[in-house]
Formats: sequence, structure tokens, C-alpha cells
Amino acid sequence: MTTTPSAGITAIDHWISGRRAPGASGRTSPVFDPATGVQTGAVPLATAGEIDEAVKVAVSAAAGWRNSSLSTRSGVLFAFRELLHQRSDDLAEIVTSEHGKVLGDAAGEIARGLENVEFATGVPQLLKGGFSEQASTGVDVYSMRQPLGVVAGITPFNFPVMVPLWMCANAIACGNAFVLKPSEKDPSASLFLAELWKEAGLPDGVFTVVHGDKEAVDALLDHDDIAAVSFVGSTPIAKYIYERGTANGKRVQALGGAKNHALVLPDADIDMAADAIVSAAYGAAGERCMALSVAVAVGGVGDDLVAAVSERLPKLKIAAGNEPGADMGPLITSEHRDKVAAYVAQGAEAGATVVVDGRDQQLPADGFFLGTTLLDDVTPDMTVYRDEIFGPVLSVVRVDTFDQGLDLINANPYANGTAIFTRDGGAARRFQNEVQVGMVGINVPIPVPVAYYSFGGWKDSLFGDTHMYGPEGINFFTRGKVVTQRWPDPATSSVDLGFPRTR
Ligand code: NAD
Repeated sequence: MTTTPSAGITAIDHWISGRRAPGASGRTSPVFDPATGVQTGAVPLATAGEIDEAVKVAVSAAAGWRNSSLSTRSGVLFAFRELLHQRSDDLAEIVTSEHGKVLGDAAGEIARGLENVEFATGVPQLLKGGFSEQASTGVDVYSMRQPLGVVAGITPFNFPVMVPLWMCANAIACGNAFVLKPSEKDPSASLFLAELWKEAGLPDGVFTVVHGDKEAVDALLDHDDIAAVSFVGSTPIAKYIYERGTANGKRVQALGGAKNHALVLPDADIDMAADAIVSAAYGAAGERCMALSVAVAVGGVGDDLVAAVSERLPKLKIAAGNEPGADMGPLITSEHRDKVAAYVAQGAEAGATVVVDGRDQQLPADGFFLGTTLLDDVTPDMTVYRDEIFGPVLSVVRVDTFDQGLDLINANPYANGTAIFTRDGGAARRFQNEVQVGMVGINVPIPVPVAYYSFGGWKDSLFGDTHMYGPEGINFFTRGKVVTQRWPDPATSSVDLGFPRTR
């Protein structure tokens, strides 16, 4: 959709060379407050030419930044960490105003992003290489990791702060310049981050924000001076980014969509499991890549689980994200809300039991709201099971045995996160060992790894071989180099260095 900025609508800028820069393409995309449905902003969609100009600035900044000392870099990261911490309430409000998630969730994503900045402050330690003295007679070998140059991050709407921080904290700590192409649906948080980086002392041009759609993304993927692309978004786009980026010789990590299952065993603590599943399925209106969207009920646990979840749903307050006590906000756009509602209808038509119907609830009159839906008796052939819905819909699939549940999860093409609920350590251990999913929770519904591990799914949830952030992030944003050195014996020098000629 393209609009022209007008009264009451903020014209959002790019961030190039340490300052705001208006878009020049004449093309924009509308930004809404999802809680009211009102357009609040217009984000410019960059042309390939604008991308090229921004990348030129980043190339020149990268040359200086790569030579900055490790203590300079960690100093900037420490300052950035402090600013982010101090200003997190302001940033949370921006996130809520364009994404719609409740303020507590927005603060939560900032806190999880902040962890990545804290990890990156340890860059002097993280970039230490290895050293082998006397690998051969008189020969020493050592390794180092060097920055790539200019790297790009392309990010989704659902975590407009956390996901950029997954990428840029490590990329910048490692000595690269970072060009962010945030989601055009909630672009303002990225400009706030840019201002904090500047205030923290990051040289101009090391952090750039360019807004845009496919044209801007393609220009980044094709640009000779972009060495690597870090992407998070839906599976079809992740695959496309991976294929086009790697065809152009770039290093690419592309994280895709998800269909995360919870396996609930008959011995599970049902109240604990229901609390966890409700929060993980409906938090942020289900618009989380680690949201639980399928509960696999094993043996006779299905009835108790469905009862416990359905009893909790009416207690969730669905309201504007900045309203006190709100548990769940609106969806990102009216189109997405309608798409999710259509899935509920499809599920009912296909034979699922609609235990709680999100289309029939008392909701705020304006905005892109949809209530919570619980579907029981879902089967793997149904569209509601196969597709990533990315909304407040939980499907319950009933199976007879642990093995049937495990096989179901392993047969799914998505493999981002999963969780098991049980009191049995042996069952949990077998699950963690045999489940073919990248991130596993044991009585933990959203097992997003802490920043000193790395985040990533398997199969259609990740294209590339490197997970995001943590140690794998440091590897992704650096290239290894190994030096093998031999020095002439000073005793053989013709110049008198004050060494004895013999030892
Ligand atoms: P999306 O794939 O539509 O967009 C992601 C980014 O790609 C945006 O910056 C967008 O502008 C760009 N883009 C969109 N269409 C494009 C095209 N045709 N060509 C080039 N670029 C394009 O994803 P979204 O709707 O913003 O985010 C939700 C999706 O992201 C869900 O599928 C969710 O599971 C996934 N996600 C995954 C993770 C993870 O860690 N695996 C984390 C967050 C979100």
C-alpha cells in the first residue's frame, strides 16, 4: 500500500550518517496504531539508489570502526546499554504504539534485547584467538577473528527492538558497520535505537537505518559491499533471502517461521502447563515466533488440559497495549486480523471443535482486535494445523502415546521451538534427545536461549548453518584468520642485538 504523508501523519525518516534523512523515492507505506486502526505514520520505501548511497556511507565508516580498539568498542556498548536501560519505558511506548503489544511485553522484548548488548560488551574476551607456541621448531601459530565490513540486518514486525539487537550488538562489537532494514509496519523503534547509539558515542555511519520493501531488500542482497545478511521473518521470505544472498556470494543466516508444539504428558502439572501454554499461545496476540500454537495432549490429559485452558481465557483482558491491566493487544493490521479469523472459520469447517471462539468476544470497537480461540480435535491434515497462523489461536491435537506425539512434532516442517510438560525426568530426557527442533523447553513454554547461547530453529525455521546471537553470532559477524610465523634466530643476526651467539 502506498500513501502520501499528510496532516496528523508523521513522515518517518531513514537514519544515514548519524542523522535523520528523509526518503526521496516518493513511495511510502502507512504505519498504524493497531489499537485504534488510525494511520499515524508514513514510512519511506527506499530505492536501490538510496540504498547504494547509504551503503557507501557505511563502507567509509566501517574502515575507521574496524580499527577502533576493543576497549573503545566495549565502552560504546556499555554506554549504549545504560541508555537503553534508562530509556526503556520510552522505547516500550513506541513499540506498543506501532506494534500493539501490551507495554509489559514491549518492556520484556527490550530486556531480552538488552541481554545481547550486555553479552557484546564482553567483546575483548569474545574475540580472543588461540596461540600455539612451537607448532613446529621455531614456528608459532595463532588465530584471530576479523570483521566482515558492512553487514545488513532485515527484521520482522513482531520484535522491532529485540531482533535488531540480536544482530547489531554483536555485529558492531565485532567491528562491522551495520545497515538495518526494519519492518515497514513498525519502523520507529529503529530510529530510537539509532539515536541511542549516537548518544553512546558510536561514530556516524556505523549504524544505519534504511526503510523499504522488496526493492530495498533486493538492493541490499545484490550490493557488492554488503558482506553478510542476517534475516528474521517468515519462511518463504527467509528462503528467498538465503538463496539470493548466497547466490551473490554473501554469508547469510535466515531465520523463518514456526509452528511450535507443546507435548503435554498425562503426569504433567496441569495448572502449571495451562498457565504456561496460555501465556505462550496468546501473549503478544500469538505474534511471536516462539509462540506455542499446538498443544499435543497425550493419553487422557486432553479433557483436563482443554478445560484448564478454556477456563483461563475469559480472564485475559484484551485491550489497547497501553491500557493498565491489558493482557493482550490487537493484531498488527486489519488484513492480518481478518486472515487469522478466516483460519478459525476454516478450522471449524474442517471438523475442529471450537471450544473458545475469538470472533465472538467483547472487544474494543476500533483497532485490529481479535479474541482468543481454542480449537480442540485438530488433526494434522487441517490447514489450521499445517499453516503458521501467527495469531491468538491454539490448536489441541490428541494422541494416545508419547511416541505418537514425538513423531508428530518431528514430521512438522517447522522446527523452531518446542516444550514438554511432565514430571518424569526420563521422558523429558528422551524428548530433548530425540526431538528434531532447535530450541527445547522442559516445563518452560518459550525456551528462548539466554544471550550467551545462540538462538535458532532447524528445518524450515532456519536457512543457513549459523544460529543467531551468542557465540554463533560472533562467528557469523567475523572471519577467521590463522597466522603461522617463524622469526630468524636473533643469534644469527649480523647486527649486534646484545644476544649471546650461543645458548
Ligand atoms: P516477513 O517475512 O513478512 O517480513 C520480514 C522482513 O522481510 C521485513 O523487513 C519485510 O519488509 C521483508 N520482506 C517482506 N516481504 C519481502 C519480499 N517479498 N522480498 C524481500 N523482503 C521482504 O515477516 P513478518 O510478517 O514481518 O514477521 C512475522 C514472521 O517472522 C513470522 O513468520 C514469524 O514466525 C517470523 N519470525 C521468526 C523468528 C525466528 O527467530 N525464527 C523471529 C521473529 C519472527
